Amino acid sequence: MVIPTANVTGLICGSCREEYTTNHDLNSCPKCGGALILNMNLTEMMGKISRDTFSDRGKDIWRYLELLPNIDRDRIVSLGEGGTALLQCRRLSKTLGLRRLFIKDETTNPTGSFLDRGMTVAISRVNQLGYTSLRCMGVSGNFAASASAYASRAGLKCTIHLAKENVKRLDLGKLYQIVAYGGNIRIEGESVDHSETGTPNEKTYTLSPGNPYFAVGEKTTAYELCEQLGWRTPDRIIVPMGHGEHISMIWRGINELRSLDLISGLKVAMTGVQLEEYASLVDLFHGSKSDEKYKGRCKTIAADLAMEKPAYGFLAIESMRESGGTGVKVKDSEVLDAMALLARTEGIFAEPAAASTIAGLKRLIDQGEIDKSEEIVCVVTGSGLKDPSTARRFIRKMKTIDAIVSQIESRRFTTRLGRTKIRILNIIGGRETYGYEIWSVLNERFKAGIDISSVYQHLSDLEKGGLIRRTRVESIMGKPERQYYSLTDKGRNILKSAVEE
Ligand SMILES: [Zn+2]
Repeated sequence: MVIPTANVTGLICGSCREEYTTNHDLNSCPKCGGALILNMNLTEMMGKISRDTFSDRGKDIWRYLELLPNIDRDRIVSLGEGGTALLQCRRLSKTLGLRRLFIKDETTNPTGSFLDRGMTVAISRVNQLGYTSLRCMGVSGNFAASASAYASRAGLKCTIHLAKENVKRLDLGKLYQIVAYGGNIRIEGESVDHSETGTPNEKTYTLSPGNPYFAVGEKTTAYELCEQLGWRTPDRIIVPMGHGEHISMIWRGINELRSLDLISGLKVAMTGVQLEEYASLVDLFHGSKSDEKYKGRCKTIAADLAMEKPAYGFLAIESMRESGGTGVKVKDSEVLDAMALLARTEGIFAEPAAASTIAGLKRLIDQGEIDKSEEIVCVVTGSGLKDPSTARRFIRKMKTIDAIVSQIESRRFTTRLGRTKIRILNIIGGRETYGYEIWSVLNERFKAGIDISSVYQHLSDLEKGGLIRRTRVESIMGKPERQYYSLTDKGRNILKSAVEE
């Protein structure tokens, strides 16, 4: 029996409920700016689809083909996303005093985050429509990394537009991913590299986090975890909230499984986590109207959760309300503790945004808001390797390891330093000294044949790089002033690794 694929019957705004036809390639509601979701008609599938339908298929999200938008098989752009493990965490359960805790481990997705679930659907759709290039607007680091990877896989040229103020928030690992996958980064408000401008023949699709085809792929987290539990829901699912689409789509996915009689009940408390610095959805859920206070902030360890205007905010709050769940906010320090706890009890290295679910769980336990006999699933959304600077924080207190890492960092730096600069560091390292003396030593001891102005240029470079610092000025009658220099700790480290090589 051929089972029909779910019909996309149109688009509906998650905020004002305005409906649109699928002829529109819309990223957000033209009327109110809200996020759009695909209206899918599952009624034709009633009675034709069963748990067995999926049993002998591949593990990726296209296993649930009938419940995803209709895309020609040969136009699907996949990297094997989804099919992630649902890990029972006995050691962490014991530490937290819980009966049964699972982690849905999204760190193992192709680009290391759950967003690949949405990206495979969005890029497959773009591929189906015949576009040749992709432009990403208003996106987070993980979104940009995933988009760049899938664009490459589809042979699409990809440009990531970043607002100037968001560049400094980008986690280093995600930036490396974007660049490695060949995504062009364009900073808004700065001059455009000419080679990156589109040609007249190019057909460009604009993708933003409110894209309905992107969001719909994230339903599959719900399908998978229910199937992995033997086609039933847990008592609670805890999800980080950035734009709020993941929690909304998990709740929607569970409702679909229920409407198709694939699971029997809807008893699951959807629980969203935000950071205290950006907790507009949690505040709104608990009845506060003061979401204005989060505008313009940017200091947090989990930039992907720090959204001023969550695109799916309304739906996220609705899923917490309808399911009898709750919202919880956590501090950066709690997230760091949770990262370490999760990695050390269960061997799962999560990025801060992902570990926020464990921090949220702990907070709810401490506040007495969770029944310890509940069966709980925490969705751990992305890999810790995406954010090396946060991982680096763990090392600071460990003196031996910190010294090793400093040396590795210095060695990288040393390879960029020329022979003359290393000699100058050596001379200054011997004793506090000044430009003219350095010049004499370079020429006499090293036969460098260098002029005095070059020496001052090198000194200026080394000072800017934080390797040397000015100590004192000596004024001698009848002679020019002498500016003395000594090495900084950084300079000493770099010199040490340069010598060891
Ligand atoms: Zn609207």
